[in-house]
Amino acid sequence: LRIRRSVLEGRSGDGQGLAWILTDVTQQDLASRSRDQFLMTATHELRTPLGNLQAYAEALQLEEDLEVEQQKEFCNVIVSEANRLGRLVDQLLTVGQMEAGSMVAVRNELEMLPMVQYSWDQMTATAEKKSQSLLTDFAAKLPTVFGDREKLQAALVNLVGNAVKYTPDGGEIIVRCGHDDEWIRVSVQDNGPGIPADEQSKVFDKFYRGSNTVDLDERGNGLGLAFTREVARMHGGDIDLESTIGEGSTFTMRLPVGGQSRSGI
Ligand code: ADP
Repeated sequence: LRIRRSVLEGRSGDGQGLAWILTDVTQQDLASRSRDQFLMTATHELRTPLGNLQAYAEALQLEEDLEVEQQKEFCNVIVSEANRLGRLVDQLLTVGQMEAGSMVAVRNELEMLPMVQYSWDQMTATAEKKSQSLLTDFAAKLPTVFGDREKLQAALVNLVGNAVKYTPDGGEIIVRCGHDDEWIRVSVQDNGPGIPADEQSKVFDKFYRGSNTVDLDERGNGLGLAFTREVARMHGGDIDLESTIGEGSTFTMRLPVGGQSRSGI
């Protein structure tokens, strides 16, 4: 069975339903240069998961002789693309709220490990495709955090996703989770290309994409780490980066035990 290319590549009307989101975000006080770039990358990024959703759903709808296994596989693609789209839309909205200083978060008492596990699960298929080892080192028991599940999960998916994305085939990624009296720490270590010293503080800026993306056939919009740092900070935590060119990078997100919030989320 072949999915029609025209469908996979998307059609001109694909982004219409999401126009309100872009309009909403861009009404915020974005600098015009950033806004142009934002619109370009956002539209580009939304088109891929939308195109895939449409193609696989249409295949399920129109193809009458699909095996049960194929149907299942298509449903899996649909669920994972819908998740990806959801994360993307959430990040776009969050960036708009970050700009306006009005980030909204729901707060709940949350178990940390299932959220870390979720981020790991989301990336295992991609890591497998790249023959990467995706390892975990989780403390047996962790204190709870007080926070926004969706945002924390999306932040963790970004960190693990970046490690998988930027580390070449055959690389190794270790996700660690531990705590002391004050902080819960989740770190994602990879043995990828590393980040040059003069770029290490910039990677957390909105829309910033590093020099290591130039020769890489990987998409991105430079929002992931800006979003992730904002989420850590809104929970009263932060994120650190240690990286050496040619050796790899370790991003460590820390969140306060018990979840003191910075700004009354
Ligand atoms: P994006 O991945 O969409 O470019 P991010 O905000 O997630 O945006 O990351 C910003 C930049 O930081 C990336 O463009 C890349 O240069 C660099 N980067 C992030 N994570 C890693 C990593 N694990 N290894 C190497 N470089 C990374």
